[in-house]
Amino acid sequence: MAKRLTTEQIERYSRQIMVPDLGGKAQMRLRDAGVLVIGAGGLGSPAAFYLAAAGIGTLGIIDPDHVELSNLQRQILHATKNIGQRKVESAQATLTELNPDVEVKTYAFRFDDTNAAEIAAEYQFIVDGSDNFETKFLVNDTAIQLGIAFSHAGIVRLQGQTMTVIPGKSACYRCLFKAPPPAEEILNCQASGILGAVAGTLGTIQATEAVKYLAGFEEGLLTDRLLVYDAKNMKFRDIEVKRDPHCASCGDGRSRS
Ligand code: ZN
Repeated sequence: MAKRLTTEQIERYSRQIMVPDLGGKAQMRLRDAGVLVIGAGGLGSPAAFYLAAAGIGTLGIIDPDHVELSNLQRQILHATKNIGQRKVESAQATLTELNPDVEVKTYAFRFDDTNAAEIAAEYQFIVDGSDNFETKFLVNDTAIQLGIAFSHAGIVRLQGQTMTVIPGKSACYRCLFKAPPPAEEILNCQASGILGAVAGTLGTIQATEAVKYLAGFEEGLLTDRLLVYDAKNMKFRDIEVKRDPHCASCGDGRSRS
């Protein structure tokens, strides 16, 4: 028998427990779940904020960086007083202040191929808020290998894209993009800029997908389609993504564990 929600939890989460598609059972699932957030930056900040507020039992935050003044325009977990502090520590303090019910585990180093599988295995969902292709492909391949669902997102300037991947069921990030692009084609926040609110929109969609998945939604997830957000013209569109049977990560030739 799952442990019941406390009176305080019922009050704190009352507005989402009221939602017919969620309810008390979903809330217990969220409480018993763990989400790993890769990067406490522009995407990870809003995602982790909403996941903590929603009552996800365990949040893992991995980021090797320290807070800089130029982060604060979009990385809303961190405040001016946190400049110079490790991002994971700043994130932990902010999230715990919002909701002491959530256990925040911190990893003050880079998510790389020496630690990815061991860390990811502790969680039921991954929010990829990383800002580089190497990490995005590593998140994908690790999640496929371990069978952990995750949300991909990327942002640049006034645009964003996001997709949810359920290993063994839906197309993966590598089905769509195959391999990292050549370095000269890469636009990133540092070189190209980003509007903070665009990162906020995408990170919030990632948190929504995590909650839906963990609450047990079987339909309606952002799978087999890439949602593209054009903030300049305020348009969203869906691009269909098909699973590639020859995909190097999830293809039929690969043995999935
Ligand atoms: Zn694939």
